Amino acid sequence: MKILVSADMEGATGVTWPADVLPGTPQWERCRTMFTSDVNAAVLGFFDGGADEVLINEAHWTMRNLLLERLDERAEMITGRHKSLSMVEGVQHGDVDGIAFVGYHTGAGTEGVLAHTYLANSITGVWLNGVRASEGMLNAHVVAEYGVPVILVTGDDLTCEDALQYAPEARKVAVKDHVSRYAAVCRTPTRTAADIRAAAKDATALAVRYEPVRGGPFTVELEFDAEHLAAAATVVPGVTACGERRVTCTSETMYEAIRAFKAVTTIVSAAVEEQYG
Ligand SMILES: [Zn+2]
Repeated sequence: MKILVSADMEGATGVTWPADVLPGTPQWERCRTMFTSDVNAAVLGFFDGGADEVLINEAHWTMRNLLLERLDERAEMITGRHKSLSMVEGVQHGDVDGIAFVGYHTGAGTEGVLAHTYLANSITGVWLNGVRASEGMLNAHVVAEYGVPVILVTGDDLTCEDALQYAPEARKVAVKDHVSRYAAVCRTPTRTAADIRAAAKDATALAVRYEPVRGGPFTVELEFDAEHLAAAATVVPGVTACGERRVTCTSETMYEAIRAFKAVTTIVSAAVEEQYG
């Protein structure tokens, strides 16, 4: 049995502030050890539950935050950027039985610690077939095309609530409780590691691959905080304007949808100015 761990940082233990997740800052250096602790706890729990292989895919920012040297030696990790499936890279080879979303967070324009969808601020909302979507929801639809169940979700309490929509069966661990976008009631890494390890062990029983889901077509609608960003996004083939600061794109598969989404975020990032956005 092989488990994939998609590891994002905003939902990690102790993390509540932009500098906590910004590579290169002293706060990030401190928080990456707590992020590593969360991920390693999941790894240990999956092996406790009977997994033979655990592959971690770094999914935050430059995708080089986790401390490889502190992980259980049975685990392997994909580090670095530019991967065809981005946050869920590794799921496409037909050998993954279950996936964990560790350190996830709520979507742009909603409540939650460090809530956003891909871009920190420029995207103010994302909708998938008319339903407001977080990264967790988008990625859950991607992995469904490979027949891989989401078996564990960790993050703040609102992330766990959000996951009820896209992975009702998955085990969930709230490592902190939301107070504001930049504040939370945090539990210590020792405690959250114990909680994550226990939940991952239980979640291993849910790692049963199913028939790949063909649920298309998928319409992704994005809203930006400035009009010029919507205009920039329409450079991507298939992406059209739909209302003020909004664009839409319809794809037959989630694979195509997430890749179009990635193209949009890349183009839009290049159009954001430091002061005015
Ligand atoms: Zn994220």
